[in-house]
Amino acid sequence: MSKSIKIEIDVRSGFCHGVIRAIRKAEQELNTDKSLYCLGEIVHNSEEVSRLNRKGLQTIDKEQFMQLKDTKVLFRAHGEPPEVYDIAQRNNITVVDASCGVVLALQQKIRKAHEESPDAQIVILGKKGHAEVIGLEGQIGYSDIVIENESDLNKIDFSRQIILFSQTTKSVEEFNSIVAKIKENLKEGVDFRYYDTICRQVSNRIPELKEFASRYELIIFVSGKNSSNGKVLFDVCRSVNPNTMFVASLNDIDFDNIEHFSSIGICGATSTPIWLMEAVKEKIEHYFTSSDKNLNKKI
Ligand code: SF4
Repeated sequence: MSKSIKIEIDVRSGFCHGVIRAIRKAEQELNTDKSLYCLGEIVHNSEEVSRLNRKGLQTIDKEQFMQLKDTKVLFRAHGEPPEVYDIAQRNNITVVDASCGVVLALQQKIRKAHEESPDAQIVILGKKGHAEVIGLEGQIGYSDIVIENESDLNKIDFSRQIILFSQTTKSVEEFNSIVAKIKENLKEGVDFRYYDTICRQVSNRIPELKEFASRYELIIFVSGKNSSNGKVLFDVCRSVNPNTMFVASLNDIDFDNIEHFSSIGICGATSTPIWLMEAVKEKIEHYFTSSDKNLNKKI
């Protein structure tokens, strides 16, 4: 007997404009060239990466990039440090630059802050080793301090000028709390400037996502495991709805758990393709209407 269940996809979830642009550029190139290198995964979503790989997009790492000559390479939305452009020029590599405008503007801001205040400590709230953060650090010769959370604050000298920026996908709450902690520790008379450089494509989604997540008994959050904004937005969903399930691919759907709910909302990160959320919805619908549920779990 089939059970009546309401399943809806959040229409505001899915790729941000930076990712849409990068994927469009890749597909445009692949329409003519049939193969294209991409430095790092084009988006933190293995399902979408596999789809583009099948079309001819080959993901390469930095080591492989350094061996290439006389070819074409796409730089993804995260942006790259200056030395990567230098390598491309030396090796006659044509760059298909899909660096997001929001990231490029932040790179420029950091460069300018360093030029204007060379003695200031440039602090970036972000994930160490994340491609975007490396691109930001490279703008000022890696002379900055990266802090991931409050426990890294001891890297800062509170008796010297501080200029704080944020990786674009951090949460505004986290940024504000770091600002408050720095102010608490700051020695008297020391200059502290801070710039909330969080991308609004991520932070503007939060109030809407909270509202969406509170409307359903169960939330299925679809995202790649390495997506920074995926982690932020998943936590947002879980904060308003403890019944939030993380799903990276169709195989992750926990049907034994889903059976207990009659309304399900599906949403995702700025790196989650719509087609994947639709496939999740279809698979669940199929499960509830199928007579052989055990067989359907494996489809
Ligand atoms: S999240 Fe914002 S900064 Fe990052 S790629 Fe998307 S639009 Fe650009």
